[in-house]
Amino acid sequence: MPQQGQKPIIIAGPCSAETEEQVMQTAAGIAGHSAVTAFRSGVWKPRSRPGNFEGAGDNALQWLKKVKNEYDLPIAVEVATPSHVEKALEAGVEYLWVGARTTSNPFSVQELARALEGIDVQIMVKNPVNPDLSLWIGAIERMMKMTPGNVMAIHRGFYPYEQTPYRNIPKWEIPIELKTRMPEIAIICDPSHISGDRGLVPEIAQYALDLNFDGLMIETHIDPKNALSDANQQLTPDSLLKLLDNLEFRDQNVNGSVQNALESFRNQIDSIDSQILELLAQRMETTRKIGAYKRHRNVAAFQLKRWKNIIRSRMETGSSLGLSKEFVKKMLQSVHKESIRIQSEIMKQHRNKDD
Ligand code: PEP
Ligand code: MN
Repeated sequence: MPQQGQKPIIIAGPCSAETEEQVMQTAAGIAGHSAVTAFRSGVWKPRSRPGNFEGAGDNALQWLKKVKNEYDLPIAVEVATPSHVEKALEAGVEYLWVGARTTSNPFSVQELARALEGIDVQIMVKNPVNPDLSLWIGAIERMMKMTPGNVMAIHRGFYPYEQTPYRNIPKWEIPIELKTRMPEIAIICDPSHISGDRGLVPEIAQYALDLNFDGLMIETHIDPKNALSDANQQLTPDSLLKLLDNLEFRDQNVNGSVQNALESFRNQIDSIDSQILELLAQRMETTRKIGAYKRHRNVAAFQLKRWKNIIRSRMETGSSLGLSKEFVKKMLQSVHKESIRIQSEIMKQHRNKDD
């Protein structure tokens, strides 16, 4: 995803600014690491239910200004209204991010874009709460239309309706599709809000880097357990530094021989994929023939016993070839669905002919 030679963007800091001491101590703990690009902190917090800590508000901007001056670190803040934008810019904030709940509302995004008209800052748009790629792209486009600033995306996962080990389910295919449609947009991963659990942050952060994300945003707090928001998912500054030291960052300068080896693997994959597609086409052709035969003999398209046998035997074969049973099952279900559709289509055509 990143341009060759570009350093990953690492943004760290507390979920919320709570007190001047908490902000300054957190900043002191992380500012020295060379990988850190900017210091984040929520100032105005969007809470799902009223009555929870809603951020220290305007005062906190002064603490962040102090971080910027003392540690020479750019500051990142969430903005949800034009007045937030105005105040943040006045305080010299360089990175503004749009939170997941705000991205979900095109009216709010448009108001923010209008407030940023002609202003050259870094803008990061978090994905909406629900896995709606168009809504995410729409918010990015609204920003790009109005501001000359650099617009980026943050992947923070999606609200899970089902039980999952994550606070917000990652659905990696969605940011990958975003990158495919908008290759010029840098995408940062927020493993803190995806996991909701500090123990899972390192593995999600590494996974994102392996997928070639352009950076990470990681919540870090001087005393996570007593944080006033998101206490379960914040790292201490020491754990953050340890994580940054242990992460495997992709090679910034992919040299000629690595590039050639990659090219050769990709050629092999291209060739295997086209063989898979040719075989699938042959399978569907046979399906057409069996469909015509069944129709002729008055046999139903779907035969439960045969289907059970297919699943069982293919899962066994797949497993002996080192494929996961779950994967083989999903793939067969999809192939079988298409076979049934083709056979039913053939039966319908013949019925229409008979009428
Ligand atoms: C945050 O970054 O603290 C935050 C509120 O995030 P999100 O909008 O992803 O829930
Ligand atoms: Mn948070």
